[in-house]
Amino acid sequence: MKISFIGLGAMGYPMAGHLARDHGLTVWNRTGEPAERHAAEFGSVVAETLEECAEAEIVVTVLPTSEVVESVVDKLLPRLKKGTLWIDSTSGDPVSSRRTGKRLAEKGIRFIDAPVTGGVPGALAGNLTVMVGGASEDYVQAGAILKSFGSRIVHVGETGAGHAVKAANNALLATNMWAAAECLVTLRKLGIDLKSALEVINSGSGRSYASEELLPSRILDGEWPLSFRLSLHEKDIRIAEAMSRSEKVSSPLLSLTTQLYTAAMRNLPSDADYVEVVKFAAKMNGEKW
Ligand code: NDP
Repeated sequence: MKISFIGLGAMGYPMAGHLARDHGLTVWNRTGEPAERHAAEFGSVVAETLEECAEAEIVVTVLPTSEVVESVVDKLLPRLKKGTLWIDSTSGDPVSSRRTGKRLAEKGIRFIDAPVTGGVPGALAGNLTVMVGGASEDYVQAGAILKSFGSRIVHVGETGAGHAVKAANNALLATNMWAAAECLVTLRKLGIDLKSALEVINSGSGRSYASEELLPSRILDGEWPLSFRLSLHEKDIRIAEAMSRSEKVSSPLLSLTTQLYTAAMRNLPSDADYVEVVKFAAKMNGEKW
């Protein structure tokens, strides 16, 4: 079975590495260097052109946005074979994925949205959680591929449902992160030691992924690695807010979180990591992290 993998960024590179161990894999990246490095490290084959990826029976995309996925679909569509399964593991927009699924279905090509959660550590370890939107039979076939980099693979509904759940997950992450930042700034202003405060919070009912896994190393140890660009996280929150609006759900907290993240993104460097949003929350209060 021929598999093409498009997009060897922070997530795609290790995900494709797991796939290359289990299957023959052709890779393509917009800039060539990661693809050459991948071939050297994992034995994958570098596609000469993007269009060559259309020869596969399975196409996997891990790209920044659904807009980019749609531009890749435009290029491959004339060459894709009937029966091909397209697995989109981008954190995308459900409206766009339903549009793409429909376009591909008109040519007999199947499409599932299969975004992931677990971050770069999960991608490196191959234990991501994958949420799949699409037809049951396509979910079953995709499972054989997804299990290379995912340890929990959940069918959440029809096309677009995977992207919807992913956007909701990341909106929750953002809300928790911002709330934790406000509380920690307050505690610091009160002169309370943040190491002790986090120890209590993280064994108490106020804990979250942000307070347990993300904030201690940044705030206490001053380590600010780049693993997930803030601009990508901001995109996910905007998708969640748009979903909420289209369903006429009253969601003031989601709207406010979107506003805060957009402001943070505009005020921080363009390559800021998503956790750096707490620097902006601190700056709003005359503090520095
Ligand atoms: P990166 O920015 O590290 O990688 C993006 C990839 O897309 C690169 O391969 C890049 O190529 C390629 N790309 C960018 N623009 C284009 C374009 N116009 N045409 C073709 N290729 C393009 O992003 P991540 O790997 O972090 O994220 C990928 C997806 O996964 C996003 O949707 C993100 O939201 C999601 N995600 C990220 C997580 C993380 O922790 N990083 C966790 C879970 C999901 P090039 O190398 O040439 O720039």
